[in-house]
Amino acid sequence: MLEVKDLSVSYGGIKAVKNISFQVPKGEIVTLIGANGAGKSSTLRSIVGLVKPKTGSIKLNGNEIAGKTPEQIVSQGITLVPEGRRVFADLTVLENLKIGAYMRKDSLEEDINWCYDLFPRLKERNWQLAGTLSGGEQQMLAIARALMSRPDIIMMDEPSLGLAPIVVKGVFDIIREINKQGKTILLVEQNANMALRAAHHGYVMETGTITLSGTGEELESNESVKAAYLGKN
Ligand code: ATP
Repeated sequence: MLEVKDLSVSYGGIKAVKNISFQVPKGEIVTLIGANGAGKSSTLRSIVGLVKPKTGSIKLNGNEIAGKTPEQIVSQGITLVPEGRRVFADLTVLENLKIGAYMRKDSLEEDINWCYDLFPRLKERNWQLAGTLSGGEQQMLAIARALMSRPDIIMMDEPSLGLAPIVVKGVFDIIREINKQGKTILLVEQNANMALRAAHHGYVMETGTITLSGTGEELESNESVKAAYLGKN
């Protein structure tokens, strides 16, 4: 369970996140939706320690993680799949997976096999350089690499960005499957349709604050959410 309370993030004088509070209960998919610049990425980056929160508390299973280093935070069971995938282009698929587990000292075989069961496409491409994978395959690899640290909670920053609709569907199928297999997920998306459909709970962010929250279904049928964020499909 992740509990964020009164979190603020600033860059110099710019307040990107302003006193937000939300929860990600164990076993759920929770989504943060909102327009460009709403502060979604800053929220995820502060949870994993890539930017230091200005104020607030971030508790993971009751332990305070705000202000800790990314290494300390990841070792406590939470990880981030960053926006733009960022796989190591000059390394193979297998090498990318091994890097995801660099903090672990135990055997990786079981986890590599688990990732290859989830993503058969990656298994076929074990020795291919990651930079030559398609956009969708790179997104799968970025997710699989994050799973290699054996997180309880996996945060994903716009996993559907720049992918064709059919590929986006595949990404969301995988998100649901990973969740079914026990992982808690915090998902940041501009594709509000897909995100709310997949999520148990959602929060709407606007200019650094949370303006609405509810179950995925409630937000999907909310008139102001429909008008601002949902297309026709
Ligand atoms: P997007 O979907 O476009 O990534 P977002 O909701 O994730 O948007 P953030 O990326 O968190 O929003 O940005 C929130 C605000 O903080 C924006 O005004 C942005 O310009 C600013 N910001 C983000 N990162 C930095 C940074 N490293 N330095 C200065 N300002 C930043």
